[in-house]
Amino acid sequence: MTTAFVTAADIETARDRIAARIRRTPLEPSPSLSALCGVPVALKCEHHQITGAFKLRGATNAVLSLPPEALARGVVTVSTGNHGRAIAHAAKAEGARAVVCMSRLVPMNKRDAIAALGAETRIAGRSQDEAEVEAERLARDDGLTLIPPFDAPEVVAGQGTLGLEIALAQPDLAVLLVPLSGGGLAAGVAAAVKARCPAVRVIGVSMERGAAMAASLAAGRPVAVEEQPTLADSLGGGIGMANRLTFAMCRALLDDVVLLTEAEISAGIRHAYSNEREIVEGAGAVGIAALLAGKVTPDGPTVAILSGRNIDMGLHRRVLDGADGLEEAVA
Ligand SMILES: *Cc1c(COP(=O)(O)O)cnc(C)c1O
Repeated sequence: MTTAFVTAADIETARDRIAARIRRTPLEPSPSLSALCGVPVALKCEHHQITGAFKLRGATNAVLSLPPEALARGVVTVSTGNHGRAIAHAAKAEGARAVVCMSRLVPMNKRDAIAALGAETRIAGRSQDEAEVEAERLARDDGLTLIPPFDAPEVVAGQGTLGLEIALAQPDLAVLLVPLSGGGLAAGVAAAVKARCPAVRVIGVSMERGAAMAASLAAGRPVAVEEQPTLADSLGGGIGMANRLTFAMCRALLDDVVLLTEAEISAGIRHAYSNEREIVEGAGAVGIAALLAGKVTPDGPTVAILSGRNIDMGLHRRVLDGADGLEEAVA
């Protein structure tokens, strides 16, 4: 039984709403990971989504759900990068104003991509939570609609469309590996796949450094963790102390959460490139990394979601050259 607040029906509605604006991404078998794990392993290549990450699904669903008056005033958001880029793209497609608030931890390549899409950018504070205060102020003072990066039903339903594609392509799915930060992706995807593949185990994967959802699930309530630099920068940030949706959904729908070291994430990025010929960012590599590290032992057909590819290319090259983590890569 699931107690999801975003339902499979909401996700199907979202799929129809955003169908013309997003790419349906391929599910590619991985011979190397299948051999390693002894079960069929496939990669959901969502890093080939427009804007380079799945976030366009939730952002587009949220923007297209706005009443025309709200759309005319514009939208504001807070982001570790990819959600901001998705909002910038989705707002531009509707001719709407977009303002993206980010902390100083957001990598320059992601800030530049957002500005290039025509969105206004504001760098505010040292953490996602501090940037959020600025976004809330703009929503109040400028009449902009705040579209949160994960904790909103339209966003979760949009991310869930990714799970719907997986469930339709792989009905015998046994294990699904989902990168986990605020939990919008995990909540939506789990709601979608569990409605169609009730036996599936959905496993969230985060980095050891500042895994807010993992700490919150362990504590039984939202807790704050210190945000730290990590190769999986898109997984940084808290879940919000007043979390309304994703905490409860992740608690109900996730079967397990595993945490990875920076060296393990590095190995995932290297494997994606060398064995799969795919460029993925740290957050997008954690599913592969969890399998390589032996932290998940799959017992049937397995899918890992490659959630994004927006990594700084100099950093990517240094990881390929053997750097295990951010410190070694920038040293
Ligand atoms: C945002 C993001 C995640 C995590 O998604 P949540 O909904 O916050 O859990 C994972 N991977 C990438 C590439 C992202 O941009």
